[in-house]
Amino acid sequence: MKPTLVIVGRPNVGKSTLFNRLTRTRDALVADQPGLTRDRHYGHGRVGGRDYLVVDTGGFEPSAKSGIVHEMARQAEAAIAEADMLLFVVDGRSGLTPQDRSIADRLRRSGRPLLLVVNKAEGMNRPVVAAEFHELGCGAPLVISAAHGDGVRELVEEALAPFPEVQTEEDAQAGPRVAIAGRPNVGKSTFINALLGEERVIAFDMPGTTRDAIEVPFTREGRDYVLIDTAGLRRRGKVFEAIEKFSVIKTLQAIEQSNVVVLMVDASQDISDQDAHIAGFTLEAGRALVVAVNKWDAIDGYRRAQIKQDIERKLNFLGFARIHYISALRGEGISGVMGSVDKAWNAAMAKLSTPRLTRALQAAVNKQAPPRHGIFRPKMRYAHQGGQNPPIIVIHGNALEHVPDSYRRYLEHGFMVAFKLQGTPLRVQFKSTE
Ligand code: GDP
Ligand code: GDP
Repeated sequence: MKPTLVIVGRPNVGKSTLFNRLTRTRDALVADQPGLTRDRHYGHGRVGGRDYLVVDTGGFEPSAKSGIVHEMARQAEAAIAEADMLLFVVDGRSGLTPQDRSIADRLRRSGRPLLLVVNKAEGMNRPVVAAEFHELGCGAPLVISAAHGDGVRELVEEALAPFPEVQTEEDAQAGPRVAIAGRPNVGKSTFINALLGEERVIAFDMPGTTRDAIEVPFTREGRDYVLIDTAGLRRRGKVFEAIEKFSVIKTLQAIEQSNVVVLMVDASQDISDQDAHIAGFTLEAGRALVVAVNKWDAIDGYRRAQIKQDIERKLNFLGFARIHYISALRGEGISGVMGSVDKAWNAAMAKLSTPRLTRALQAAVNKQAPPRHGIFRPKMRYAHQGGQNPPIIVIHGNALEHVPDSYRRYLEHGFMVAFKLQGTPLRVQFKSTE
């Protein structure tokens, strides 16, 4: 499981600057997807080969009693409670404030591991900047500049040090690990019960601690799956019920641990930012994806047309995924969703030979050559497969660092069509020789 780092601090100390720095990946996969980068509080990061999740609690206002703001405050509380490591950010230029003190108290009470981060310290004497924050009682301050990147790598290394580096080996698993993800009340539990109700559940692991994800292996029509829980499921008699409230972090961790995500949305409501965020996170994680538009029974023809349009507009970056219109309540459409899960899993795990990849690459280049960059003409020589789930296609050649993102996407689409890889995102990487 990837450790989850949660950034906390009063406004303006540099939380979102730090968040951006911690989630800056080489692979700018979703960076240019409209609607996804705006207002992002959850992201993936990687430093020195270590992967982690980051949550920025900034923008979560902790006062309102109801509505979306209240929901955000609740998510901030949940994020603190579920953090593997809290990064408590203070401002080295403005010095210690009463608000810092009260946040420190609250964080210490949470009992979660904590690092004190003194930001905006570029050009300042580190020990001097750190000194006044010792009295917060949050351990030795780490002095950084999020804006300049000073000390950020050391910060991540320190934050990840307590967590063992687990090798994600290619286990010879029988079938896909599936996560049903979605906002509260879209019908996830109903779907899971329809799915598992009549199936033989082989085992139901009670977790060692509440922080572990629950896995439910099951078979359906002779095929094996593992359901990754997103909501704190417990079994009561024959029925599963979610005993915890919706948790963004649990959802993200379940997505991380899955091979295929079923993104569930509610047909009776418009697609929200939260739907798009979960979808974007799935894409960023490289997971295969099936979209299930639930409660199709509850709406009329006019609304059906409306929601289809809304999905096309707001989730257009999921062009690779199949969409199903279902009623979990009536048990309609479940088989179709699971059929697409199988197909998406097969696409995600496809083995692509170098000769076939290279032929597909040449066909794409012949149809449309990569644009010149000044005097450089990128030259693509051959392609080989660099990974599965998601399929990674590594293209070798010269001057490939000048290939624009739009051309990368053109190639990704070309490979997707050539190999009929529907249901999984696909990544094209470039390796220049010379
Ligand atoms: P947040 O409200 O905690 O998320 O803070 P922001 O990340 O939005 O940063 C608040 C302000 O501090 C912005 O003007 C940033 O440019 C500035 N800032 C962030 N990090 C640094 C830093 O390392 N050094 C300096 N000098 N300014 C910074
Ligand atoms: P979760 O929070 O995503 O697990 O959602 P639940 O499974 O608890 O469902 C939330 C509400 O939506 C419950 O009242 C369900 O009965 C209802 N619901 C779930 N699926 C459907 C459906 O296909 N059609 C209709 N009309 N209602 C549904």
